[in-house]
Amino acid sequence: MPEPTHRLATDTDNGMLLVISGPSGAGKTTITRAIERSIPDAVFSISATTRPRTGEDVDGVDYQFMSIEDFERRIKADEFLEHAVYAGNHYGTLQAPVDTQLSRGRLVILEIDVQGAKQVKERMPDAFAIFILPPSEEELLQRLRTRKRESEEIIERRFNLARAEMNEARACGAYDAFVVNDDLDTAIAEAIRIVKERRG
Ligand code: 5GP
Repeated sequence: MPEPTHRLATDTDNGMLLVISGPSGAGKTTITRAIERSIPDAVFSISATTRPRTGEDVDGVDYQFMSIEDFERRIKADEFLEHAVYAGNHYGTLQAPVDTQLSRGRLVILEIDVQGAKQVKERMPDAFAIFILPPSEEELLQRLRTRKRESEEIIERRFNLARAEMNEARACGAYDAFVVNDDLDTAIAEAIRIVKERRG
C-alpha cells in the first residue's frame, strides 16, 4: 500500500526558494519587495534578529526581534535553516516556516547576507540566489550617507562590510545571478525577469 499523502488543497510542485543579498544601500530591500508584489504567490521570509530595532522597523513584519538567549537556544535546537553574525548581531531564517511555504508551492524569498546564502545553498541546493550590486563603490557610499539613518561611524562600518561582502559574493560561487542597481526600475524588471525565467 502506498503511504497516504497529506497535501493541502493549495499544494503544487511549484515551490521555489529565492535568496536575495546585497550590501546595505544597494536597493536590495526595495527590489525584494517589488518581486514580492509582482509575483502573486511570493512570500517574504521574516528573519529573526537580535539587533536593536530602528525607528523604521516593525516587529513581525520586517523582522522577528529576539533576545540573544532565545536566538542561541534555537541555534542549539537546530531550528535555523541558516544564521549568521552581521555587524555584531545575530540574524537567521527559521527552517519550519520556509518548509511550510515551499510545500504549498510558494516562491519563498529570503533577504539574507552572503554567509547565510552559502549555508542555504549547502542545505537546499535547488535554491536560486541573486546578488544586488550598486553601480560603484563611490555611489554606494553616497547612498549610505544620504539615507542619514545612522551615524558616520556606523556608515563607515557598513561601507567596509559592504566592500568585503561584494568581494566574497563574487568569489564564493553561491550566487546564480548578479543584478546591478543603477536605475531602480530597470534593476527591478531584470530581477523579476530572471526569477520568472528560472521558475518556468
Ligand atoms: P539590516 O540590519 O540592515 O536590516 O540587515 C543587515 C544585513 O543582515 C543585511 O545584509 C541583511 O540582508 C542581512 N540579513 C537579514 N536577515 C538575515 C537572515 O535571516 N540571515 C542572514 N544570514 N542575514 C540576514
